[in-house]
Amino acid sequence: MTFLDRLERRFGGLAIKNLTLWIIMGQVLVYGLTSMGFVGTGQLTMNPELVLRGQLWRLITFVLIPPDYGLIFMVLGWYVFFLIGRTLEGTWSEFRYNLYLLICVLAMIGASFAGLGEPAPYMIAGAAIFPSVFFAFAYLYPNVEFLMFFVIPAKVKWLAAFVWGMFLIQLMIGTPATRLMILASTVNFFLFFGPDMLRRRKAVARRNAFEAKQRVEAEQPFHRCCICGATDRTKPDDQFYYKDGRGYCEEHTALMGQPEAEQLAAAGGAFKE
Ligand SMILES: [Zn+2]
Repeated sequence: MTFLDRLERRFGGLAIKNLTLWIIMGQVLVYGLTSMGFVGTGQLTMNPELVLRGQLWRLITFVLIPPDYGLIFMVLGWYVFFLIGRTLEGTWSEFRYNLYLLICVLAMIGASFAGLGEPAPYMIAGAAIFPSVFFAFAYLYPNVEFLMFFVIPAKVKWLAAFVWGMFLIQLMIGTPATRLMILASTVNFFLFFGPDMLRRRKAVARRNAFEAKQRVEAEQPFHRCCICGATDRTKPDDQFYYKDGRGYCEEHTALMGQPEAEQLAAAGGAFKE
């Protein structure tokens, strides 16, 4: 039983069902309230100083700040998030999915408390939990095809590779705060999939080693003439004959019946093994 299984047995009952849907509804609500001017996103962001001054709701509400891509892309984003989030909930369990998101959110809160300054705004909004959910989906279902812009089919693994690439670039050129946020928003992925990735790598290494060994063995000659040392590799057209456990190429079959001393002389003093 893995550590996760034990956690699930103990805390599984605490899992929020349909978490994906709740987050989306929260984001829709926040979108509605902010566009109508009832609240400003500034009151909902993850701001360590204000949290310490008692504005504890920020620890949760930052997850509900919708990604600010314009309504059409937001609806699309919610739709995709809904599909892949629901799939993950079904593939794992409600509890594991909850934990996956919780780790991401906690890591991001931790990162913003690290006080490296302001990360890019989209990194600490609700959109920041999308990538790790997407990465998990792509890892589990790499060959599912998405229609990009409703036209171009693309396998999810290539889309994920592209987003990983963007993250890598940000890791290299971003501010310290942005870098930390990138790490924080992917730590859940590596916690969940790291062991499996290592196992797969080892399995690949083992298979390569096995195949290399088989290749070497396949190159070993099967027959060898005890007189001249020729093999079925150096003389592929020859038949090899055997007497008393020794092999003879066609050229030396005449020596097969001869006394051992004569054979030894022909072999230059010692039989070729
Ligand atoms: Zn020979």
